[in-house]
Amino acid sequence: MKIREDFLPVLRPVGGEEEIKSIAETIQSGWWGKGPKVEKFEKEFAGMVGAKYAVAVTSASHGQDLVLKAKGINNVDIINPAISFMTTAVVPLWNNCSSNIVDVRAHDLNICPEDVRRNLKPNTKAIIAVNHAGVPAPINEIREFYSDFILEDCAHSCYTPGAGKNGDVAVWSFQAVKTMPCGDGGMITTNDKELYEKLVPMTWLGITSTYSRLNRGDTLTGKPGYSWDYEVDLLGYKCYMIDIIAAICLEQMKKLASNLKWRRYIQKRYNEALSSYLQIPPWSETCQFYCARVQPEHRDSLIDYLATKKIHTSVHFKPLYLHNIVSNMNKRKYPVIDKEWKRIISLPCHTAMKEEDIDYVIYWVKNYFQRL
Ligand SMILES: *Cc1c(COP(=O)(O)O)cnc(C)c1O
Repeated sequence: MKIREDFLPVLRPVGGEEEIKSIAETIQSGWWGKGPKVEKFEKEFAGMVGAKYAVAVTSASHGQDLVLKAKGINNVDIINPAISFMTTAVVPLWNNCSSNIVDVRAHDLNICPEDVRRNLKPNTKAIIAVNHAGVPAPINEIREFYSDFILEDCAHSCYTPGAGKNGDVAVWSFQAVKTMPCGDGGMITTNDKELYEKLVPMTWLGITSTYSRLNRGDTLTGKPGYSWDYEVDLLGYKCYMIDIIAAICLEQMKKLASNLKWRRYIQKRYNEALSSYLQIPPWSETCQFYCARVQPEHRDSLIDYLATKKIHTSVHFKPLYLHNIVSNMNKRKYPVIDKEWKRIISLPCHTAMKEEDIDYVIYWVKNYFQRL
């Protein structure tokens, strides 16, 4: 097969006229900051995932941080999984907590309940559970022996049916290569009204938004119309989503079902064509990553070989306890992930891929093994 000219990326977002029009409308409307589009997006997103409340933020990382701050989780121990993006290991550090990294299960690379149980400390007050590659984390199993706070990291599970309903709070990501991308953005969903009412002003320095004061009258005096005044009595940050970004989110959300259908189709094609060459991943409703496994001696050479054919791959992820920033807190053995992570490779999977791109990847992966 002829080698392509441009690289086939492992992940990439796709947008079109709809997103461009939606951004243009927002620019022309004169309301660029947090306003009607964010409000609409929050409402529709909460509806989609079946949560009572949703707060749109600048990223899932800041969303997770804000949840810990709103819950007053500080200076305690937080358990998080060895296979995840850096966020889950680092957000505990932002809150003076120890980042207690535990092993994962071999079959789906999700947080291992047994290892959580073994590593619980008297001061463990939170667990961050990631739905790795879109496959639900075993939160109900953890619930059998742990009753404190669980933050469900849904960065890969937008949208896996039922995701976001197992933890106490869920945080979603719309970062550029996630399943519903907008560049950078995130969402916190919860059924806890008190937490919701605290989170909203915390996204803007403790201030209630100008847009909400404009539309709902003066909350202090009860007078209708725009109110310039506000009172700040809690420590806030600055991490609310703005309408220019929500304009993209609203359009991406309309396309989500058909985009996910295409991702699952890619997953199915890879599974059918490659199952005798590599270990196929557990089925994912989002296929955020097509995270296959090969023998450790083949992982890096397959990555290099595919690169010579202009195919980008990746590894999701290098175990977090290997990073210096958290390694000294986690000097124990990780028998499962130490073995498995040297076998993982993510093949291209995204909505910009055409049928011939799928054929192309399948052809060269097969070719690598047939050539041996
Ligand atoms: C991408 C990702 C995040 C961070 O999301 P941002 O919106 O980029 O902050 C958190 N957790 C996991 C598992 C991720 O993959």
